[in-house]
Amino acid sequence: MLKFFLGWIDSWSITHSSELTEFEASKTSKDTQIQWLRIIPFILLHIACLAVFWVGVSWFAVWFMILFYMIRMFAITAFFHRYLSHKTFQTSRPVQFIFLLIGTMSAQRGPLWWTAHHRYHHRFTDTEHDPHSSTHGFWYSHVGWFLNQQNFSTRKEIIKDWLKFPEIVWLDRFSFVIVLITAFAIYLLGDWLAFAYPNLGTSGPQLLVWGFVVSTLLLIHATLCINSLAHLYGRRDFDTKDNSRNNLFLSIITLGEGWHNNHHYYAGSTRQGFFWWQIDVTYYVLKAMSFCGLIWAIKPVPQRIYDAHKIHLDSLKNKIEKNSDGGVL
Ligand SMILES: [Zn+2]
Ligand SMILES: [Zn+2]
Repeated sequence: MLKFFLGWIDSWSITHSSELTEFEASKTSKDTQIQWLRIIPFILLHIACLAVFWVGVSWFAVWFMILFYMIRMFAITAFFHRYLSHKTFQTSRPVQFIFLLIGTMSAQRGPLWWTAHHRYHHRFTDTEHDPHSSTHGFWYSHVGWFLNQQNFSTRKEIIKDWLKFPEIVWLDRFSFVIVLITAFAIYLLGDWLAFAYPNLGTSGPQLLVWGFVVSTLLLIHATLCINSLAHLYGRRDFDTKDNSRNNLFLSIITLGEGWHNNHHYYAGSTRQGFFWWQIDVTYYVLKAMSFCGLIWAIKPVPQRIYDAHKIHLDSLKNKIEKNSDGGVL
């Protein structure tokens, strides 16, 4: 029992048998079982949303919710995804730590856990070895995959390049504690504001519910939509072997991650909206950060990718013309 709770505090204290093998290894039924006890915090986060009816609402709490969502979404897309998972730019160790810490506050487990599973997703996209293959249906690719035994541990064999940074390992191990401290700090902030600036109309419980609970839940599900909906709905601008799609709505709520078909075709560029009309807020902010010298070595989209897109469009056009000719005849 003690070991079980220790696993919540230090996620590296529990090693699953499946962690010792690659995804290629055969899975036992135990590996795919949902770990109900371990996902209590995830379930509680959903139930806690009902407290919005009890704590009331204020403009301050709503703006805090939106801003905290956006800051953490940026940390996830820019630093967990484009930096840690794909190494599409470089930065200094302090900037790396600050944004990985903010990303860890998103309650999406640790940065190395996130990166390891994402790298497996790219390596085996939409096959049986993909941790959240869209071939298993919407619910599995959205939430089912990370609630089961086999995907609880950080798969260290695929993130060895980052293990040399003790501070990143620390964030990964104690991610749950960091989330708890974040929630508590937001509660204290609300409590202090109620006393110091009563006309804001907020309070400790109100800011905790809107600024942490609702904001974090929206953030988690928006991120998860990239694994589920971005492999289901949208345009396919590139001919990839997987089901990835480009989706404007998902790009807006995830600050640019919705250009998922682009990303699966070419994951090596910092930019995911390959064209000017493909809104990619994360890229714009990263570009601004590069002007300030906070990050550098941004990787561009190579010309051959644009050429491939043109060839794909031309072949689609030809197919449509052939079909319409057939219809006339
Ligand atoms: Zn990726
Ligand atoms: Zn994907």
